[in-house]
Amino acid sequence: MSATCATCATAPAPGAVLYVSGPYRVWVRCAVLAKAQRLARVRAPLETGGLLLGQVVDGEAHVLALTGPGRRARRSRLGYEADRARDNRLVARIHPQLHYLGDWHTHPGGPAVLSATDVDSIRGALTTARREVLHLLLAGPADMTSPVASVFTVVGGESAVRRMTPEEAT
Ligand SMILES: [Zn+2]
Repeated sequence: MSATCATCATAPAPGAVLYVSGPYRVWVRCAVLAKAQRLARVRAPLETGGLLLGQVVDGEAHVLALTGPGRRARRSRLGYEADRARDNRLVARIHPQLHYLGDWHTHPGGPAVLSATDVDSIRGALTTARREVLHLLLAGPADMTSPVASVFTVVGGESAVRRMTPEEAT
């Protein structure tokens, strides 16, 4: 378990954090959170991001892997724009057993809240076949040491974005 993941230290299951909002439940592997933190630091003070990959079992999403940015992804202090074509090829080739569950990105020196542009971009991934999209946001100081991880879910037909709460072991 990564020492950089404070959330993992109080997780109810070994190696994964459970995030909950109403009926929506998402397990995120600690290894996935640790990889996001590592990639965030490498790119700081620029934003970065990529895909959340995994499976849905009995209505619960399991985020099992995370990809970094494609070479053609645009990274800046103001935003992150994915290289979608490359991302889709990567999923099919490297992770054929996993599904796209959502995206992640960073806010170096920025707030742990999604911007209006972020929300528009996340909603753009909703389709009639995909009614929920997850999002992982890492926010922290400009150098992205000890970032805060926030997990959101956007549900088709709901106007508000759901900020999910990590469950703690009791
Ligand atoms: Zn953002």
